[in-house]
Amino acid sequence: MPMFKRRKKMRKSCSEYRSSSRIGIPRALYYFYYPELWESFFGSLGFVPVVSGETTKETVVRASRISEAEHCLPMKLFDAHFAELVGRVDMIFVPRTFSTMGGHLSCPKLSVLPDVAVLENGVKVLTIDIDEREQAIEKSLVLLGKMLGVDKKLARSAAFQAKEKMLEVLARRIMVRTIRARFLILGHPYILYDDFISGQILRKLGKLGVYVEPITFCDQSVSESFVKWDTSSKMYEKVRLLDSDEYSAVIQISAFNCGCDSIMTEMFRRVAREKEIPYMILVIDEHMAQAGIDTRLEAFVDSVRWRHDADSRT
Ligand code: SF4
Repeated sequence: MPMFKRRKKMRKSCSEYRSSSRIGIPRALYYFYYPELWESFFGSLGFVPVVSGETTKETVVRASRISEAEHCLPMKLFDAHFAELVGRVDMIFVPRTFSTMGGHLSCPKLSVLPDVAVLENGVKVLTIDIDEREQAIEKSLVLLGKMLGVDKKLARSAAFQAKEKMLEVLARRIMVRTIRARFLILGHPYILYDDFISGQILRKLGKLGVYVEPITFCDQSVSESFVKWDTSSKMYEKVRLLDSDEYSAVIQISAFNCGCDSIMTEMFRRVAREKEIPYMILVIDEHMAQAGIDTRLEAFVDSVRWRHDADSRT
């Protein structure tokens, strides 16, 4: 293609994105991996970020109506959050996530999300590759800015600001949690930090007088191991380095049909057992019968207390 025609085509693709465009961000999966990063980046560039609402009972009902029955709950919720944005925004942001950490891969389901989103909904999807094995997230943001026709300097400064915002949120998580550490809570970020999925469990533990510390995912320096999935590797490292004087128990919140957890859970359980730390897994699906979960939590907390009392008598 002659050079001038190619330039014209490029200009056209950039001008597709007006700076006032409304960009939808589903409150699921990658939203929780990079808290506040996307809203801040798009907002600083003059776009209007529109994040879907908090997960509610209606989101879960919609998810089970429109999504694949075989999906794990977080994937189903992604479909529902995506659907909530259709018709309300000019485009929906769905990155292709290969890796969120050097030397590791993300769950393979995250790398096909943009394709599935386009196929199933026929709406305009804005996408970039996230592959932190190859390039830091700020660099991916600069490329995203370029795709949106934004000046490179401006995109760089927006990327820097967005990363600072994200780090502030992650640091706040550490401060709030570590002061009150007692039970370690394991789970993928979009499970632990989606209040609808984990909030009731954490609040119930609070009512039972337990201090909880959900894993924060702030630490990027995970030591080399056989685990190559990013969040699973961070969880494995956390369990491996657990100090039984610091934690009374570990509770893992997992999603039904999670491929990564189906392999890793036994590993976490084994390491916790070697350290003599009680371990429990709660598998969540869209039915989420709270009464059953409450009973299991009460029984687990009681057994940890009895054990503790018995240890202190000897
Ligand atoms: S890691 Fe598990 S819960 Fe997360 S998207 Fe993959 S299968 Fe679903």
